[in-house]
Amino acid sequence: MNEFCFILDATLGKLAQKIRILGFNAMYFNNITYEELEIFISKNSNCIVLTRNRKFYEKLKEKYDILFIKSDLWRAQLRFVVKKLNLKLINLKIFSRCIICNSQLVKVKKENYKDIIPDHVYRTCDEYSYCEKCQKIYWHGTHVEHVLCDLREIFKE
Ligand SMILES: [Zn+2]
Repeated sequence: MNEFCFILDATLGKLAQKIRILGFNAMYFNNITYEELEIFISKNSNCIVLTRNRKFYEKLKEKYDILFIKSDLWRAQLRFVVKKLNLKLINLKIFSRCIICNSQLVKVKKENYKDIIPDHVYRTCDEYSYCEKCQKIYWHGTHVEHVLCDLREIFKE
């Protein structure tokens, strides 16, 4: 069950980011039509589709694993998905993916990225991950801890 993958429709950008933070593969495109999305789904039919489009849901529900998301708030959306699929929080996987592009992050040594890490962060944080595609560095700082507390609450409810 650790290998869940998700395909989200264009209305679910925030949810896609949260799912990536948890370490799951969440494929999301904000610039494609539902026709294009359906083609993509047919090529990745092992993934769970999340949509807020009732018509789209009705059309696909016999063929694919698809969940209709009622709420327009990410917290309620995530709670619904977690409950429905009985997702578990896996500490190792948290922050293992880039929230922008969904790539797997690599753990890096801060010495090698001194140029792009803000000084105050460099002094206080020791854990860093890097997205090679976006060339973006992530660190475990107060923001991360805050997001994590938020997400943990959802799993507890
Ligand atoms: Zn990235």
